[in-house]
Amino acid sequence: MQVVMLDLKAQFVKYKSELMRAVEEVCNSQILCLGPAVERFEKEATAYCGCKYATGVSSGTDALLLSLMAAGIGPGDEVITTPFTFFATAGTVSRVGAKPVFADVDAGTFNIDPAKIEAKITKKTRAIIPVHIFGQIAQMGLIMEIARRHKLLVIEDAAQAMGATQDGKQAGSIGDIGCYSFYPTKNIGAFGDAGMVVTNNDALAEKIRLMRVHGENPRYYYRMIGGNFRMDNLQGAVLSVKLKYLDEWNKKRRDNAAIYNSMFAGTIVKPQKIEQNNVSIYHQYTITVPKRDMLQAYLSKQGIGSGIFYPQPLHIQDCFKGLGYKKGDFPAAEELTESVLSLPIYQELTPEQIEHVGKTVLEFYK
Ligand SMILES: *Cc1c(COP(=O)(O)O)cnc(C)c1O
Repeated sequence: MQVVMLDLKAQFVKYKSELMRAVEEVCNSQILCLGPAVERFEKEATAYCGCKYATGVSSGTDALLLSLMAAGIGPGDEVITTPFTFFATAGTVSRVGAKPVFADVDAGTFNIDPAKIEAKITKKTRAIIPVHIFGQIAQMGLIMEIARRHKLLVIEDAAQAMGATQDGKQAGSIGDIGCYSFYPTKNIGAFGDAGMVVTNNDALAEKIRLMRVHGENPRYYYRMIGGNFRMDNLQGAVLSVKLKYLDEWNKKRRDNAAIYNSMFAGTIVKPQKIEQNNVSIYHQYTITVPKRDMLQAYLSKQGIGSGIFYPQPLHIQDCFKGLGYKKGDFPAAEELTESVLSLPIYQELTPEQIEHVGKTVLEFYK
């Protein structure tokens, strides 16, 4: 039985007529950069996330970059984040001229360990960027408490977590700013690049909207230096269709995860730990295992796809050499990069396929 890691076509064929109708409407209008479909999606997103403002942007990376710019973070500033994340989380901090400062993760949840944050705070620290890795929200209660005490801004990197909740609150809605990605492989994916920034803060929201279009207002008059961070109208239309189904898809992923969890219970295979107060959307279903690379090769030979997110922590990437970190600085993150493997989890998979993958994984350790 072949089981691929992700099959975007399986979702597209199911919703094709509804999606193509939305796409055609935008094509007919020829309103292409921002526009009514983006505005509609933003309105729906504020209701979904429980936030006052939602701003559609060009990508998840640009959501982070724009947030940092709007917060006025730049040269001389430090931003604390996790070394176990996608590159953009720290890359954008460097791009605004600030310094990424890493704090190690919890070995069980893979999220930034709140107990490791406070020791990293200096006079230069301006913000914390927790990342909700693989669709599970970082421990925001503790993080917000630390941030408030030290007057730091919290920017949630919720790129992998739209629809995840913690104590009933939506990912992205708990910190000062929340950033989402609609890259096609995310749980809610656009037809290309897209992202979103949410906030409840009036002043930040106004800056974010202005800086999305070069800081321009009125036309050809520039109040501040922004960029071109516009969302395509087409993406707004596609995302409006998909948002209606997001909770249903996320639940299907949780059902799939539950099958894996029961199969792996009490075995050598350790799934990402989900905390009591969290509902994960399983952007990835990730296990930690010994002999990870051999397991991946074995699965591949049996026609089963898998992924390594991520093979190298950020603090020892070549591009961050100047930050002065070395191997051994963040043992939990480093250990994860050598032992994590993500298994197929997308919503169109059948229970039989999930059971087949789970059985094949366990077979390898017999
Ligand atoms: C996908 C992702 C991003 C970047 O989003 P893009 O839309 O690809 O630019 C940022 N952070 C995390 C954690 C991500 O997974």
